Amino acid sequence: AVGTNIRTYFEGTWHDGDVPIMRAADHATWLGSSVFDGARMFEGVTPDLDAHCARVNRSAEALMITPTVSVEDMMAIIHEGLAAYGPGAAVYIRPMYWALEGNELGVLPLPGATGFAVCLEEMPMPPAHKATTLTRTRFCRPVMESSVCNAKAGCLYPNNARMLAEAQAKGFGNALVADALGNVAETATANVFMVKDGAVFTPIANGTFLSGITRARHIANLRADGADVIETVLTFEDFEAADEVFLTGNLSKITPVTAFDDVTYQVGPVARRARDLYWDWALSAA
Ligand code: PMP
Repeated sequence: AVGTNIRTYFEGTWHDGDVPIMRAADHATWLGSSVFDGARMFEGVTPDLDAHCARVNRSAEALMITPTVSVEDMMAIIHEGLAAYGPGAAVYIRPMYWALEGNELGVLPLPGATGFAVCLEEMPMPPAHKATTLTRTRFCRPVMESSVCNAKAGCLYPNNARMLAEAQAKGFGNALVADALGNVAETATANVFMVKDGAVFTPIANGTFLSGITRARHIANLRADGADVIETVLTFEDFEAADEVFLTGNLSKITPVTAFDDVTYQVGPVARRARDLYWDWALSAA
């Protein structure tokens, strides 16, 4: 568990607490066929919940798991589960699918044999401008030919875990990760942006890393605010020369970066502005 006060939706109803959902013989248990998404409720809003529900259905399809819950029904289920929390609660929302059965060889998931659950966990939003640090990692993102990297799949995350473990063993908060060509892709847990001479840059989505829902929202917010946001190929040298670096992801929304190996950055005006824009946009939907 990453939070407290867990609630679980499983087999058509909400349960208080964490409940067992997988069986020993489930395809997902031994073959890793599970997908998930992460969304947030905070200050009474659930920003981009529809996009997170739509993505978990697309992730399922990418792993040949039949998605069995429509986006509309999934949102209704989630809102029903969230109603048990207090109005000020910050909650991490994790819908999940997994394959229950495989074909006679085991490996191929059987169409329609799908488990679905939602896990809710109370988890405070990090304080504004809580920063992190980055380091290089020797591990990199897979490519489509070797991994289903167009899905948010549980089976991709052991690679991210070893990046994080390596970074944290060196005393850094996260890893700045290359794609298979050696350009900057993302971090182990979030997308990455940099600022240089007033323009905002982020690695162009090339199908080998998660081009996040929060990333897209920040790009739209910053552009609407008049910023020049450029999605392009970025090298590690580009990041060493940056004026500002920040991360985006559903969990924290935006996290400033204060160091990349021996290069240090200030928490800058663009990260601050992006945070304000995100909160203004999210709360205006309340
Ligand atoms: N990259 C990785 C590897 C992630 O785990 C996440 C968090 N889901 C992100 C990027 C950010 O994506 P999103 O904004 O859609 O949460």
